[in-house]
Amino acid sequence: MRSETDVVVIGAGQAGLSSAYFLRRSGLEFVVLDANSRPGGAWQHRWPSLRLDKVHGFHDLPGLAFHEQDEHRMASEVVAEYFARYERTFDLPVHRPVEVLAVRDAGPRLLVETTGGTWAARAVINATGTWTRPFWPHYPGQETFTGRQLHTADYRTAEEFRGQHVLVVGGGTSAVQLLIEIADFASGTTWVTRRPPVFQDAEFGPELGREAVAKVDQRVRAGLPPASVVSVTGLMRTPQVRDAQARGILTRKPMFDRITPTGVVWADGTEQQADVILWATGFRAALDHLAPLHLREPGGGIRMDGTRVVAEPRLHLVGYGPSASTIGANRAGRTAVREIRQLLTTRPVETA
Ligand code: FAD
Repeated sequence: MRSETDVVVIGAGQAGLSSAYFLRRSGLEFVVLDANSRPGGAWQHRWPSLRLDKVHGFHDLPGLAFHEQDEHRMASEVVAEYFARYERTFDLPVHRPVEVLAVRDAGPRLLVETTGGTWAARAVINATGTWTRPFWPHYPGQETFTGRQLHTADYRTAEEFRGQHVLVVGGGTSAVQLLIEIADFASGTTWVTRRPPVFQDAEFGPELGREAVAKVDQRVRAGLPPASVVSVTGLMRTPQVRDAQARGILTRKPMFDRITPTGVVWADGTEQQADVILWATGFRAALDHLAPLHLREPGGGIRMDGTRVVAEPRLHLVGYGPSASTIGANRAGRTAVREIRQLLTTRPVETA
């Protein structure tokens, strides 16, 4: 089966839905293809203890207020409800579950090959987030470890670690939040990070946000992979973090040298026994389906100008790099649609 449309949006998270909202207003024909079987983007998969009061600030999608009063409800549940309501309210044409396998250049159109047929589009907005690409670094001896290894993406609840020693690897917000939760149940915890963590006492206000976005934007304009937000902002010293520091939970050790069957060893020979290694080592952009377009630069990233891919102006990446936040995703959707509308109105409709 092959269908034609003006724009294909890949992904129905915050970035994809924001794009769909602006496309609806633009008058262009479009579809949204989403690999999940239910609304909710990546939020639906996040761990149950991630309550609304623990997220950094969830921004309304354009045109419909979020309106959740109970901040103790699970973010996974509440956001999924909100996204479902959003799709209904604006009658967004979301097809699911449809996984995009490849995007190819077919002359005048981009061919979007999926598990549910092929779409020939005049432009593509990619909004596939990072959740499906958890990043696991490799350390010598990793395969010999006889305990449990898991990634943040697999984490469900701290109670699973009752009475165990848990070693958490990673210097981001998730590492800190999970350490604090797990410490209440584990027999002990160890925190290791590559670089010493930097705690930030300032509120995460608009100014810090703008600074972080500008730094990540600079990287992707230069064709480098986007850096994590924490690497540019530092970790927020919330009251909960301050308390955990006072209790010694956030005493960090440098990266170990190797993994043994029962724990880890540092270069100076110090050992730590562990039952569990939790890799809170982040995620990478889920862009494998764009490989046929050969967009990677020698620096390892995709060179961007705002949301537009410099080497392929019919393709926009939203929720990527500087727009990988709920507020950034909103703005990116609007920018991408404005530019695509301009591009398509100056180009005649062609068929492949
Ligand atoms: P997602 O929500 O990941 O949605 C991507 C969608 O694309 C999914 O539905 C997926 O099924 C679909 N998809 C992926 N690949 C394919 C494919 N090949 N074919 C079809 N569909 C596909 N931001 C904040 O502003 N505040 C926070 O507190 C916050 N907390 C976060 C906590 C964690 C643990 C993480 C990982 C991120 C957090 N973020 C937060 C970032 C924020 O969630 C996202 O940047 C933002 O929601 C934009 O999401 P998105 O639409 O880009 O991606």
